[in-house]
Amino acid sequence: MWKQKTRNLRNLPKAHLHLHLDGSYPGYAVEALARRRGVHFSVPDNFPDVWSFFDAYGTVPKLAETHEDLAGLCRALVHSEAAEGVVYAEPAIEPQLYSPRLGSLEQVTKTMLAAFGEAGKDTGVEVGALLTINTDENLEIAEDLAYVAARHAGRGVTGLGTAGFVEPGNLRRYRSSASIAQASGLPIVSHAGQTGGPESITEALDELGATRISHGFRAIECTELVHRLADEKIVCDMCPVSNHRLGIISKVEDHPAPRLLRAGIQITLNADDPLWFKAGITDQYEIARKSWGLSDPEIASFARAGALATGMSSGTRQRLLEGVAAWLKEENSP
Ligand SMILES: [Zn+2]
Repeated sequence: MWKQKTRNLRNLPKAHLHLHLDGSYPGYAVEALARRRGVHFSVPDNFPDVWSFFDAYGTVPKLAETHEDLAGLCRALVHSEAAEGVVYAEPAIEPQLYSPRLGSLEQVTKTMLAAFGEAGKDTGVEVGALLTINTDENLEIAEDLAYVAARHAGRGVTGLGTAGFVEPGNLRRYRSSASIAQASGLPIVSHAGQTGGPESITEALDELGATRISHGFRAIECTELVHRLADEKIVCDMCPVSNHRLGIISKVEDHPAPRLLRAGIQITLNADDPLWFKAGITDQYEIARKSWGLSDPEIASFARAGALATGMSSGTRQRLLEGVAAWLKEENSP
């Protein structure tokens, strides 16, 4: 009997806009580096709390003792993204995690950008880096990071990010850093609406002029904010597996993304830290299909929202949108 097959989600062209470099290297690359260092590396099945996650997270940058170690990890990441159908990746980079061993923020950033460019040529994946301030820790070096971002604006760096677990994050402290980046034409992409409620999202929009939000799912708690995000086309880069694994939502089935999508918000699906959560970007799309019961046209809208990333070149944007349309036209795929 003829059986309708479902479209293969790996083949759906995607923009991956919310992934942290150090939490996204493929496991085999980290394990190989750890072996060279004589250390055992493994990813636990569970994190009892968020602090144990941060402790584990911090071990990986320390494995990179040379610029070539770091470059190798960056190249491996781009190759693993290519295998997931990603055409544009925008990893959040924190050169400050490597500079104690590898030199200045500028030198470390250059190594990352060069490796992305090289692997991008090999794979066809365009990579833009979101140079990211950790708002829990980096107040003293925030402007330094913004200046590095500004110097590489349009040459590998596509935005200034803010990320922190404490929300609202008293983001007005970072206004001057945001202004430095914005003067160079870079957008601000802020973590908000993850641990903090709707007020944390409003804070990022109003205090820093953020034009994209990393997470943002807690907008669901405020109808007015939902309307604002939809009207202003603020893209929210959501990460259902991460939210579940860190205990922020109890079940992926209950994630607000489908409701926010139907309310008109531009949402992308992302892995956040695929190394640590053992789930790549395609797994998030599988959740949209299996746990949220969304149709393929609805699922495609997550991929299409990625085209709103301002750092993406027009050629990649066209490739993404045409690829999504072609995917939807497929009757079935193996
Ligand atoms: Zn994140």
